[in-house]
Amino acid sequence: MTATIIDGKAFAATVRGKVAEHVARLKADHGITPGLAVVLVGEDPASQVYVRSKGKMTVEVGMNSYEHKLPAETSEADLLALIEQLNTDPAVHGILVQLPLPGHLNEDLVINSIDPAKDVDGFHISNVGLLATGQKAMVPCTPLGCLMMLRHHHGSLSGLEAVVIGRSNIVGKPMAQLLLRDSCTVTIAHSRTKNIEEVVKRADIVVAAVGRPEMVTGDWIKPGATVIDVGINRVEGRNGLLGDCHFDSCVEVAGAITPVPGGVGPMTIACLLANTLTACSRANGLAEPEGLTA
Ligand code: NAP
Repeated sequence: MTATIIDGKAFAATVRGKVAEHVARLKADHGITPGLAVVLVGEDPASQVYVRSKGKMTVEVGMNSYEHKLPAETSEADLLALIEQLNTDPAVHGILVQLPLPGHLNEDLVINSIDPAKDVDGFHISNVGLLATGQKAMVPCTPLGCLMMLRHHHGSLSGLEAVVIGRSNIVGKPMAQLLLRDSCTVTIAHSRTKNIEEVVKRADIVVAAVGRPEMVTGDWIKPGATVIDVGINRVEGRNGLLGDCHFDSCVEVAGAITPVPGGVGPMTIACLLANTLTACSRANGLAEPEGLTA
């Protein structure tokens, strides 16, 4: 069997197209333009590239993009003051502080100073709690993108056995919460999991968010399972990016699989835009965009 390739690039373009349609309607019907503020502290090259492409795509869907680039030595007090200003700015519906922050800044403190209603990354402790208790939350973008692709591929996820490999706060844990909410039977595997191959082999859905290139091989995969590869790994001596799954062996066994690149990656920014639209709709007491939230 050769798996269906889930084309994240095309899916993300569709999501951005839907966001753009909603934005156009918000402007025409209500005179509202959603605004996303991105705060970058320091000069990390990967973060700079990421922030630039976020800004470009924000404008492309018709939203306002506000970029705040601060020097690496910015004090915590100055950063918190900027966030407070963005929290109270009615033109800003989403705030994203690019991580990682320079070492002298307390990431938890900074993230938790964002108004939860504008926390489009979904990392604020209130949003984590809301998601865990099944309430309306801002949902982290990468797991939201994975969920959208899974729902699109499977329709209902109810009763499916899902294994999430990785327990980070930004991917593994929220992914598990979302799958649980869609009534999967969920296992979270991590670096201490015993017989991990056997655990993964039970799964109808495997989400790999590990950061270890090509760790999951085809012999770990149940025939016909759906494999979502979140990993983005650069390996010296190998061209391009590698996922956490060994694509060539997994594709022979799986029913469907996301490639790297071109799978989960493009969905993350698309979901950031979807979250900004959701935040803007909620802030204005309007109906949430259908199919663009969890
Ligand atoms: P992270 O915070 O480093 O977490 C990695 C997780 O993998 C940890 O829970 C760790 O377990 C687990 N792990 C490590 N080695 C393992 C092993 N041998 N067997 C089983 N589990 C193991 O990473 P992350 O931020 O979640 O990111 C994971 C990957 O996704 C990275 O490649 C990252 O670049 C990528 N990513 C992609 C996107 C995107 O937009 N596509 C977004 C975010 C992240 P312990 O907790 O036991 O240490």
